[in-house]
Amino acid sequence: APASSPVLTARALYARYGGFTALGGVDLELPAGRVTAVVGPNGAGKSTLFHCLAGTVRPARGSVRFGARDITRMPAHSRTRLGIARTFQHLAVFPTLTVAENVRVGAEQGRVRDAGAVERTLRLLGLDGPVRALPAAGLPTGTLRRVELARALAAGPRVLLLDEPAAGLDTAEVAALARILGALAADGMALLVVEHDLDLVAGVADVVHVMAAGRIVASGPPGHVLGTPEGASGP
Ligand code: ADP
Ligand code: MG
Repeated sequence: APASSPVLTARALYARYGGFTALGGVDLELPAGRVTAVVGPNGAGKSTLFHCLAGTVRPARGSVRFGARDITRMPAHSRTRLGIARTFQHLAVFPTLTVAENVRVGAEQGRVRDAGAVERTLRLLGLDGPVRALPAAGLPTGTLRRVELARALAAGPRVLLLDEPAAGLDTAEVAALARILGALAADGMALLVVEHDLDLVAGVADVVHVMAAGRIVASGPPGHVLGTPEGASGP
């Protein structure tokens, strides 16, 4: 898909926990039709940046815009209605609800009423078989990650924020996830992947930002930033 103007834009974001500065001035743009990745060591501030975009951490300074609209102070649930969906680093599904019921909850939080969203999303993620009627509790991690992704997608988002979506997945599951994320971007969605797993990032990201100590210290296409052979400034 052609790149268009950024759907979600962060400008000069600062975030603090007490006296500790977790974000020290971050600029980030998420364009439609692109997978943007943020990588970096534990404690770099990736999840804090993610929370500032999702609305679950209030930045001390700076702004977040959705299109032309300033949403810096907008609560998380309103951002979901606007078309910004997210997953959680630690899985968040309703254990007693079935797979299909979990996805329906996501559809009800969305920006449009779309009767077909639940079925379409279950199919897209291969959850339309017998598993749809099982309670989420006790399902394997790989399946739960798909349920969580389906819940987010059923809301019909224009922006999808993913915090460590590859955590707990095996190689085949990571490859399948990369294909799904690529297809969503090809459909025009803006995606952010905050990730430790560089295999997923290398396979799917259009642009990679490297964070360290609360700042973005390098940006570029994955082959450049992650230091594969054609990379000019890789480690
Ligand atoms: P990452 O996702 O890259 O591992 P985080 O954004 O989770 O980084 O954390 C960045 C820094 O902020 C870390 O030093 C972490 O210990 C600290 N931090 C994160 N959340 C909190 C919190 N709720 N209270 C205090 N410090 C926090
Ligand atoms: Mg994190």
